[in-house]
Amino acid sequence: MIAVENIHKAFGANRVLRGVSFAVEAGEVVCLLGPSGSGKSTVLRCLNGLERADSGRVRVAGREMSDASLSAIRRSVSMVFQRFNLFPHRTVLQNVVEGPIHVLREDRTEAEARGRDLLARVGMADRADDYPARLSGGQQQRVGIARALAMRPDAILFDEPTSALDPERVGEVLQIMRSLAEEGMTLIVVTHEIAFAREVADRAIFMDGGTVVEQGAARAMLTDPQEDRTRLFLDRVL
Ligand code: ATP
Ligand code: MG
Repeated sequence: MIAVENIHKAFGANRVLRGVSFAVEAGEVVCLLGPSGSGKSTVLRCLNGLERADSGRVRVAGREMSDASLSAIRRSVSMVFQRFNLFPHRTVLQNVVEGPIHVLREDRTEAEARGRDLLARVGMADRADDYPARLSGGQQQRVGIARALAMRPDAILFDEPTSALDPERVGEVLQIMRSLAEEGMTLIVVTHEIAFAREVADRAIFMDGGTVVEQGAARAMLTDPQEDRTRLFLDRVL
């Protein structure tokens, strides 16, 4: 479903990705872990074309990343951000249907009906006509997930979806991600929620300094890592 082969990316003299490779099968849940600055967000951004790798290959849903495939790839992988990134001057429902109507060219009435279904799925049906500022962070993030689903993606990329939330709001968002995983959605999740990664992810990838230090079955790797750098990191975040 997603394959990354030996990608490199530099910002000026800062070599942020130094030969990153991994693959994600359809229906897999993969957690991407690593210290601040290790390149996790850059990897996600290379997967949906928000950044282009300087070298190496990125394949998503059967397409090789290129200028020609960029917009198709962006449509096929939705991204959920740490800071929600909802449009403040649009209602919850308008936020969810914006992409389907303007990018996928869906009929407004149908898009709105489906948008309401998606909001119901994340427990936000009764807030469809509210503006984002009236919602808690956890509620905004649930809308962010509904908006990502509205694009009918092949995979969803989450970049620290719970790091900006109050602790008591983290669980409700993780629960929705867990249900997406159970339904077979392909998920790549950058997170520091190690318990979630251990329970929900099929595989874990640990990055440091722009390289993959270790990857493997999530439960085994996060319980008994093979590499010292992984162990040190886990000792610090747990
Ligand atoms: P964090 O856990 O803090 O989110 P991260 O693992 O996601 O870290 P990245 O955001 O991928 O790390 O950043 C890796 C490095 O790339 C950092 O040194 C960062 O300053 C740099 N970087 C990222 N995006 C850009 C950009 N657009 N321009 C210049 N430098 C950037
Ligand atoms: Mg990041």
